[in-house]
Order: sequence, then structure tokens, then C-alpha cells
Amino acid sequence: MHKCIRCGKVLDADDIGCHKKLVNRGATEFMCVPCLAEHFGSTEEKLRILIEEYRAYGCTLFAKKE
Ligand SMILES: [Zn+2]
Repeated sequence: MHKCIRCGKVLDADDIGCHKKLVNRGATEFMCVPCLAEHFGSTEEKLRILIEEYRAYGCTLFAKKE
């Protein structure tokens, strides 16, 4: 189980996918979406929208939600 390297939150697949997409595809340590947003000077809401767009395109980093 992965935890956010910044706040310690337990990460879900979207957090990890988002980190890989935005930071480094080969990353082995990850940040959660809110911390990524802060890191990039963005907002969690914007990143969530981005994730849904990538998911809609069929990006393999983001599993389809049921
Ligand atoms: Zn975090």
C-alpha cells in the first residue's frame, strides 16, 4: 500500500495515476491529488477534472470506474 510522501494519506489508483502522469511515469513514491495540486499551484478540483478527461481518453494510468 502506498502513502502520500507529503501528507501520509493512503493513496488510491487515481492518486498514483495522476502522479505518474504529471510527475514521472516511473515513479515509485507518490503524492495524493490534493498535494499534487498544491505542488503544481493548481486545485484538487482541476486535477480531478483532468483525471476524468484522461480516463475518458482511455489512458491506461487510470482504471475505468464501474
Ligand atoms: Zn498528500
